[in-house]
Amino acid sequence: MSSALEILRRDFGGDVIEPGSAEYASAGGTVLAQGSPAWILRPKSVEDVRAGVRFAAGSGLPLSVRGGGHAFAGFGTNDGGIVIDLGLLASVEVVDEERHLVRIGGGATWGQVATALAPHGLAISSGDTRSVGVGGLTLAGGIGWKVRKHGLALDNVVAAEVVTAGGEVVRADAREHPELFWAIRGGGGNFGIVTAFEFAAHPTTDVHFGRIAFPASEAATVLRGWADHLRTAPEELTSAAEVANPFAGGPAAPVEIVVAFDGADPEPAAAAIDPIRRLGTVISDDVAPMPYAATLVDGVTPPPGVRLVTRSAFTERKSVPAVLAILAEAGTSDGAPFIWVRGVGGAVSRVPADATAYAHRQAELMVATVVVGPQPVVEAAGPALDAIWARLAPHVDGAYAGFLSSAADEDVAAIYPARTRERLAAVKRRYDPGNLFARNHNIRPR
Ligand SMILES: Cc1cc2nc3c(=O)[nH]c(=O)nc-3n(C[C@H](O)[C@H](O)[C@H](O)COP(=O)(O)OP(=O)(O)OC[C@H]3O[C@@H](n4cnc5c(N)ncnc54)[C@H](O)[C@@H]3O)c2cc1C
Repeated sequence: MSSALEILRRDFGGDVIEPGSAEYASAGGTVLAQGSPAWILRPKSVEDVRAGVRFAAGSGLPLSVRGGGHAFAGFGTNDGGIVIDLGLLASVEVVDEERHLVRIGGGATWGQVATALAPHGLAISSGDTRSVGVGGLTLAGGIGWKVRKHGLALDNVVAAEVVTAGGEVVRADAREHPELFWAIRGGGGNFGIVTAFEFAAHPTTDVHFGRIAFPASEAATVLRGWADHLRTAPEELTSAAEVANPFAGGPAAPVEIVVAFDGADPEPAAAAIDPIRRLGTVISDDVAPMPYAATLVDGVTPPPGVRLVTRSAFTERKSVPAVLAILAEAGTSDGAPFIWVRGVGGAVSRVPADATAYAHRQAELMVATVVVGPQPVVEAAGPALDAIWARLAPHVDGAYAGFLSSAADEDVAAIYPARTRERLAAVKRRYDPGNLFARNHNIRPR
């Protein structure tokens, strides 16, 4: 430990936050998890990240790497270990205006990215929340409001700068360290710390964005009609459905269809969105043109003691009617969890399943449930939640790492089909044989 501390004192030029310091109270936990780490390191440079990694490796203490701190499983903190918080590595730079190449620090948030790219008329399909980190979201997938047109966030990554467990800095792209490049696109933070991503952004104009709400009693027909429509709608239309929003009445809450049409022209936008309006009795409809950056919402930090339990899975076309019928019934029954269904398909499905470590390419929908509340509430909701997932089980497959609050072996097996997992384990053996980067949906080196 003393030699590890020497490395820290000698080579680390960033902020070191220890228990008892003024910043510790706000820096110890993440957005969704409490924690009491022994050290929080905020590197200011790649050299600092290397020193932080060498310190962590030498200390033998658990290491958390924190991007935006939004992992439902609370990966970005721990008790008694080290946190490398990348929040100061948040630059967003357009490095090639013609090719729309953008270099983004590994600790940036999607709000920072959207704001920085807007003056260039560019955007990257990311997620729905400003404070979510570029790191965690991209390394898991990235299902955002342009996903059907432009694919997952990770489909737009062209290179990454990675500090490996050995403290080496490597560039991973299609030519250099191609297996590492394959692995970080879906394999999470298992293989090193990404200090910068290079993305190919896409030109953007205003988009048409908003929510169309229907009575809960119409859930079954609305959900079914919505999924049918997405199958033939232009890929400019990305959409999600929300049922049983606990902040809007739980099982009695309106079914909300969120629509994002990637374009400013009102005519094609209306042509794509109007069929959804005709699915039932519209209670409210706030769809309007706006800059892409305005579609992102601010994340909410739950009060201490409030837990979020999140589960997810994918469903392919043949099972969509069965899944939506179960969700419509469950979502309007007592004790319903918050249900999110996101349309994927489109550009996501055109990427071969083995091209990246995100394998769920043929899914039409990603389904997630969220239970929010103090521990006793979450526990009481458990049996009803298990019953819903037991009914869904024959019709769904896999899991989306981004929407998963547990990290047991069966979760990792759900995220990564066997062949993907084996290939990831081989990459892990090469870049992190000692499993230094373990606070994630962990791929063990052997
Ligand atoms: C409010 C909210 C909204 C969300 N909306 C969406 C959405 O619209 N679409 C979607 O796809 N997902 C969404 N998610 C899920 C989100 O993608 C995951 O929670 C993701 O892990 C968050 O990344 P982060 O960097 O903020 O989290 P962190 O907790 O900081 O990191 C998550 C994991 O990634 C690792 N990591 C982070 N950055 C790096 C890096 N630079 N290098 C190496 N490892 C790193 C961490 O070690 C950790 O294992 C949402 C989550 C929340 C809480």
